[in-house]
Amino acid sequence: MLENIWNETIKTLKETLPSSKSMWLGFIEYKSSTEDSISLVAKSDMYINAFNDSCKADVQSLLDELSGRHIQITIEKGEVSKETASLNKQEKTESKPAAPKRKSTLNPIYTFDNFIPCEETNFAYNAAKAIAMNPGISYNPCLIYGGVGLGKTHLLESIGNYIEAESNNRKNVIYVTAETFTNDFIESLGNKTAPAFRIKYRKADVLLIDDIHFFSKKESTQEELFHTFNELYENQKQIVFTCDRPISELNDFTDRIKSRFQRGLNINLKAPDYETRVAILRKKCQEKQIRISDQVINYMAENIKTNVRDLEGALTTLVAYSKLVKSDITLEIAQEQLKNIVVAPIASEQDISISSIVKEVSSFYKVDVSDIKGKKRTAIIKDARNVAIYLTRKITQYSTTEIGTYFDRDHSTVTHSIDKVDKEKKTNAELSSSLDAMEANIRAKAR
Ligand code: ADP
Ligand code: MG
Repeated sequence: MLENIWNETIKTLKETLPSSKSMWLGFIEYKSSTEDSISLVAKSDMYINAFNDSCKADVQSLLDELSGRHIQITIEKGEVSKETASLNKQEKTESKPAAPKRKSTLNPIYTFDNFIPCEETNFAYNAAKAIAMNPGISYNPCLIYGGVGLGKTHLLESIGNYIEAESNNRKNVIYVTAETFTNDFIESLGNKTAPAFRIKYRKADVLLIDDIHFFSKKESTQEELFHTFNELYENQKQIVFTCDRPISELNDFTDRIKSRFQRGLNINLKAPDYETRVAILRKKCQEKQIRISDQVINYMAENIKTNVRDLEGALTTLVAYSKLVKSDITLEIAQEQLKNIVVAPIASEQDISISSIVKEVSSFYKVDVSDIKGKKRTAIIKDARNVAIYLTRKITQYSTTEIGTYFDRDHSTVTHSIDKVDKEKKTNAELSSSLDAMEANIRAKAR
């Protein structure tokens, strides 16, 4: 049975992951399995590393989802069968003509056409389009910020793809993640190729850097970024960055960079509403030729409110499962398969209200409930507020946007509070056990 589940997992991921990730699945082979573990083999360490880095997490989560238990994955170096080797070759040559000749690192699947805007994201969508149509002129620089899975990368790469297509690849569009930029920079220092690094980034017509919060605490990279930024900006080259929070909240960013961005366009990407979640699911089904009833689509859109990535993940799980059991996706199947993602939101929202969480936190920290929701900024109140936000996210099904509405904070402040507590509890055992205690109390009272 595990072998079937493995096959279905790989088939689904090959269809749904971007090819830059899924290509590595072609180099590994199923070897054996037990009740709850699976052994894989690949020809060399390079393939093993590439698999681990690019798609192991996706494989793990879908395997666990489909089997309903945690599956241990091990992979070792060894001979792959002749069939796999020839299959790999065949896949490679087959996919060659289809692959567009791109010198860029952009992923062609991200376009404005398949981004579905809603009232919440309309402004972001139109601004991104305006940038793509008039790079370096309309909105420069531009920062797109917001929580995970809300389409920042999608919009950023759409800008790049649009400009490349319109200019017939004459415009030099550079898309990198902040991590790649940092690694490139570090490597250039080690190899004494700093000039090459500078030339590469400073001759961009359009520089797109994804997830710039990664630059936090990396002072020399920030310094280099600053010079690149200035040179491009002075020459009216377009600069678009994405970040998980507004630039003002990047505490260890130099003021020089912050002030450059404060002068530009800052776009807050928010979570889509119910109607848009339905529209996104319909579009994804259409793109992937998946047949699924309105009832199931509505069920998913009602219950998965966190972000678009979670919606897509749920759809992938359902499709893989329905293929495995060779059945249509019924509402019962959806409810059963998605129970780990959808934690009975109606019950939990009834049982555990935000106000009961705030009450518990307020008595733990000995601060007033009204202060937690208010504007005071003393250390103890700030701590209590962050913890209340963190616990709400952890215990309830409310989206970060909804939590923001309750606490009268914007979405990015909520994300920031959650990150802060999450990080701190890893090194602060006292905080970690206080969190557990508060959570246990909240749950006990809800029973
Ligand atoms: P982020 O970079 O903000 O974490 P992504 O851009 O990676 O999020 O989006 C996660 C997934 O959701 C991607 O597959 C993306 O195509 C999809 N997505 C996000 N927003 C939309 C939208 N409005 N319409 C269609 N697909 C979307
Ligand atoms: Mg992203």
